[in-house]
Amino acid sequence: MTNPIKGSCHCGAVRLEAPHAPPWIVQCGCGTCSKLGVLWAYYPDGAVTVTGTTKVYLCNDRVIGIHHCRACGCTTHWQTRGKDFGRMALNARLLDDCNIAAIPLRAIAGPTPAVFDDAWPPS
Ligand SMILES: [Zn+2]
Ligand SMILES: [Zn+2]
Repeated sequence: MTNPIKGSCHCGAVRLEAPHAPPWIVQCGCGTCSKLGVLWAYYPDGAVTVTGTTKVYLCNDRVIGIHHCRACGCTTHWQTRGKDFGRMALNARLLDDCNIAAIPLRAIAGPTPAVFDDAWPPS
């Protein structure tokens, strides 16, 4: 759990590096995440390094920006804009050398602050 973990989009233009594998993964049930089909791994702001150019889709009253690779379209991560949640999330499906099927999955109804408070920090 303490070794850095890396991931990338399908074409490799966007690369992600996190300090450790996620202790759990979130399947968000909101309309956006359901249609994107992503599984989120949460990290504190600043803990994840993202390299490469992304395209941003603004949702949740434009508070959250969901980033995608401009070339292959993979959803890479989300970050807040303006409102500080103290965390961001990367798409756990993009992680390499990480068996996400072995990581506990949490299903939440949607990305409301109340749900975040309940789910963070990981217990
Ligand atoms: Zn790509
Ligand atoms: Zn969502």
